[in-house]
Amino acid sequence: MENIYNYRLEELKEYFKNINEKEFKAIQVYEWLYKKRVKSFDEMTNIKKEVIEKLKQDFKIEPLKILKKQIDTDVCKYLFELEDKNKIEAVLMKHDYGNSLCVSTQVGCNMSCAFCESGRLKKVRNLSSYEMVLQILEVEEDLNIRISHVVLMGIGEPFDNYDNVMNFIDIINEPKGIDLGARHITVSTSGLVPKINEFAANPKQVNLAISLHAPNNEIRNKIMPINKAYPIEKLIESVKNYLNKTNRRVTFEYIMLKDINDKVENAIELSRLLKGINCYVNLIPYNETSHIEYKKSEKEQILKFYDTLKKNNINVTIRKEFGKKVSAACGQLRSNYEEEK
Ligand code: SAH
Repeated sequence: MENIYNYRLEELKEYFKNINEKEFKAIQVYEWLYKKRVKSFDEMTNIKKEVIEKLKQDFKIEPLKILKKQIDTDVCKYLFELEDKNKIEAVLMKHDYGNSLCVSTQVGCNMSCAFCESGRLKKVRNLSSYEMVLQILEVEEDLNIRISHVVLMGIGEPFDNYDNVMNFIDIINEPKGIDLGARHITVSTSGLVPKINEFAANPKQVNLAISLHAPNNEIRNKIMPINKAYPIEKLIESVKNYLNKTNRRVTFEYIMLKDINDKVENAIELSRLLKGINCYVNLIPYNETSHIEYKKSEKEQILKFYDTLKKNNINVTIRKEFGKKVSAACGQLRSNYEEEK
């Protein structure tokens, strides 16, 4: 039996057509699920009894289980348990422009980035679209808030689960449903070049962020094994192709790792690499974890790096630091939980 939150509106219309019911029932169901947020088919009072019974036979409507929650002033971190007992995380961040949810896309991750906690657990499986949709619904209900922005920066590599991720985006973008604007959704990738090319053909105005983290192949190979398959030249080429097709500004994420990638000369090299590309660089103070030896760059060093990019006409911001108290680095909550047990 499939979970109802896996269905795009179009697919649900198709379903009703196939059981000889009017297509608009799909819209009614969508409104019950996403506008009124009911949790059972019985609550869908404008749908007739036989149809409700049929829906119950064909679909599950189960929520995710909140296993653990850590709250700080501007951040709230969730550990969810899935039906098969696998665990994933989502992080809610309160910005001045709204509430942003960082959503997981896989159980574990195969990218093996040296600095990242998530990759300590290799990929167990992809998440279904409904498991991503429910991260949003559960957090909104639990905190009694509306989420205005979604970033696919939790556990997993979104482009290694491309179809489910794109389906998820369609579901949450649907005006009859959650109605999250495409421009408020950001997909972050470690650099799967063929998928970046595929994504460039997507007509929706979803944002793209690239986890670059290094100005050259020598450094990037050391911290991101994916770079051996898709080196920086190829990555930049695919970003240029994306820009040609979409004309949407790309974000490059750059984690500041002490003595690894944070020298002024690295900033100069990065400026050369990104010259003329419609982008901005988001400098991310590294979130240290007990299992990995990398250290975060000194504040001063981050500022020097920032200034160097600015001087070279690269748009740059320094990411606000969230959740030090709540182990907000990707994958930290899950791995701490496993250790406590
Ligand atoms: N796999 C995708 C999305 C998930 S990771 C990607 O690589 O983009 C989301 C972002 O968090 C990436 O930029 C990743 O490099 C970064 N990240 C991972 N561990 C981190 C840590 N400990 N501190 C700060 N950022 C981290």
